[in-house]
Amino acid sequence: MTKTARKSARPARARLRAPVLLAAVGVVMAAASLPAEQQTTGADERRVFAPVPISFRTLADNVYQAAGNGNSHLIHTSEGNVVFDTGNAFAGQADDHYRLLRDAAPGPIRYVIYSHSHPDHLGGHPYWIDEGPEIIVHREFEEERRYTQALSQFGGRRLRRLRLPQPQRTQQAPRGTEQPRPPVPIEPDILVGDGDHAFELGGVRFEVLDTPGAEGADNISLWLPQQRILFTGDTLGFLWDGFPNVFTMRGEKIRRPMEYIHTLERFIALEPDMVVPSHHDPIRGRDAALHGLRRMRDAVRHVDDAVIAGMNEGKTVHQLMAEVTLPPELDLHQGHGRVSWAVRSIWEYYGTWFHYDTTTELYHVPAREIHGELAELAGTDALLARARQHLDADRPLHALHFIDIVLGGAPEHVPALQMYREVHAELLADAADVANAYEENYLQSVINETEAALEELQSGR
Ligand SMILES: [Zn+2]
Repeated sequence: MTKTARKSARPARARLRAPVLLAAVGVVMAAASLPAEQQTTGADERRVFAPVPISFRTLADNVYQAAGNGNSHLIHTSEGNVVFDTGNAFAGQADDHYRLLRDAAPGPIRYVIYSHSHPDHLGGHPYWIDEGPEIIVHREFEEERRYTQALSQFGGRRLRRLRLPQPQRTQQAPRGTEQPRPPVPIEPDILVGDGDHAFELGGVRFEVLDTPGAEGADNISLWLPQQRILFTGDTLGFLWDGFPNVFTMRGEKIRRPMEYIHTLERFIALEPDMVVPSHHDPIRGRDAALHGLRRMRDAVRHVDDAVIAGMNEGKTVHQLMAEVTLPPELDLHQGHGRVSWAVRSIWEYYGTWFHYDTTTELYHVPAREIHGELAELAGTDALLARARQHLDADRPLHALHFIDIVLGGAPEHVPALQMYREVHAELLADAADVANAYEENYLQSVINETEAALEELQSGR
């Protein structure tokens, strides 16, 4: 299918290309619910890394949200307050979230609940613990923290290559006079797992649900049955109505598709009137919530079923990466999770990394090790001429294999590097169809690195 045909074949989807509208709203002190036209949910897959200024929302009589690059929530009761997630450690917003929520609802902080262990949800921890609240996390929280911290150098190298823009503190934010507090270790009091944890405070029932999902095994959610409000953290992924990020480019463990599906089943059975993710806007209304939850469940089930069927039929992972797509009625955006990468992750989650393609997979000498010799035998000119033919015929991935062989023998070969940059530019243009933020950032990072290498070589440094 040509690029144009691919584009026109995509079903129309409500898109709002305007930047995050909250930027214009600024801080809305004690605002009532935002009118529908100011909501950004499901609007644009490119918002994955967009900066989100701080705003304040009253979600229900006693339920408040401080929004930003990671939202903080406070539920007020006559016997004290419960906090769910405390904002993004990287965005420099968590202290302002704290002040906004404290001003809205005075009273002791009795519980702090963390949806999962990612730092974009724990940023305000030092502010909220003065009164010694009970800290509630999932049983797997510690293990998720342990291995991601143990692999911090590995992950850091990858994140630098992805060049993810860091959210900036917004100008509209109310600046406190207090100095930012240094990080404090999180010492859980209550672990959720193998079941839920429910409690009552001031006549309000809180149900902390064991819901592993789109961002790991340690995802928990908070259900307020009286008001039918469901706080989901990142259990559904980073963006509502998107395909979950089963595979992370920064390198976390593959998330299990059936856990996600089971969690979605639970959410659907609750019939929430409002779903409140910890990024971007709440989803208001039972119909809208159920419609989105069912689509996300069915999309993951569709991909999981298709991968399993293909594996049983003897198809290779590469065949399935090319073949498995979402049907039009389940065409979720892929800004955070790319379906073809989920196919590969699910294949390897079930089948592990030995694909029975070639015996060399079992041993430590990859094809790359003989690229230099191959280039010598074939000649770099012939290899690059063939790469050019593929590129001209709109087969950039085939071209890339030939260029890899040339660069394997001669990493400073200027015409090969120039074509390498060109191939990546072509892939980046193609990537606009799917608009996955990680794919686009990665490809751009390779282009930047190749340009820097070329500049250095051409200036004779
Ligand atoms: Zn998050």
